Amino acid sequence: MKKETPMSKAVLNNYRNLAETMSKELARRGHVPFYCETAEEALAKVLELIPEGASVGIPGTVTIRELGAVDALVARGNRVVHHWDPSFTPQQRDEARFEEMNCDALLVSSNAITKEGVLVNIDGSGNRVAAMCWSRGDRIFVVSMNKVCPDIESAIARVRECATPPNALRLGCKTPCAVTGCHAKNGCVSPASLCRAVLITEQAPTMPSGKKSYVILVGEPLGY
Ligand code: SF4
Repeated sequence: MKKETPMSKAVLNNYRNLAETMSKELARRGHVPFYCETAEEALAKVLELIPEGASVGIPGTVTIRELGAVDALVARGNRVVHHWDPSFTPQQRDEARFEEMNCDALLVSSNAITKEGVLVNIDGSGNRVAAMCWSRGDRIFVVSMNKVCPDIESAIARVRECATPPNALRLGCKTPCAVTGCHAKNGCVSPASLCRAVLITEQAPTMPSGKKSYVILVGEPLGY
């Protein structure tokens, strides 16, 4: 974690207040909310929520990898299914995408979240947003407070302006934003586009019997 300054202390204090406000909204919308000041605390919460021995599906997410959750879960003996395995063939990647949503737990982030607890995500292949709507086990969202937006419109803009351009660079996609560093005014319709499906989760979708949707808000910046 960065060295604390009076400014960063004020930001963290504000995040704590905002997280408390948001937690009430998240609970009202059917999620079980938590606030963790640091990534380290968030990782501990993830490991507490996922039972030892549970299989864990992790779709495309930089946040979860930055958290160190993949290594920590594997080290503990959990079976982790994730299509980002660089050794996979395209067919194996597709199978992993299906299997991720069939695991005992789904571990993801969110591209943005509104201050009223609405999760906003945009996908190219759609497997991640599909799993956010319907997956077999508990769903755990880890979302850093720097992704909080005032409303749905600004949340969509955040995904397109802040999250997608670096994602396009990471994936080597030939999108306009990969060149200009920002969303093209009229978007892009092409096989390379990372913005094909928009999911606005106003409330936790109906969960399989006995399963829960957890949202862990984190004071430390994570992901894009
Ligand atoms: S619509 Fe196209 S240009 Fe705009 S952010 Fe998405 S991938 Fe980039």
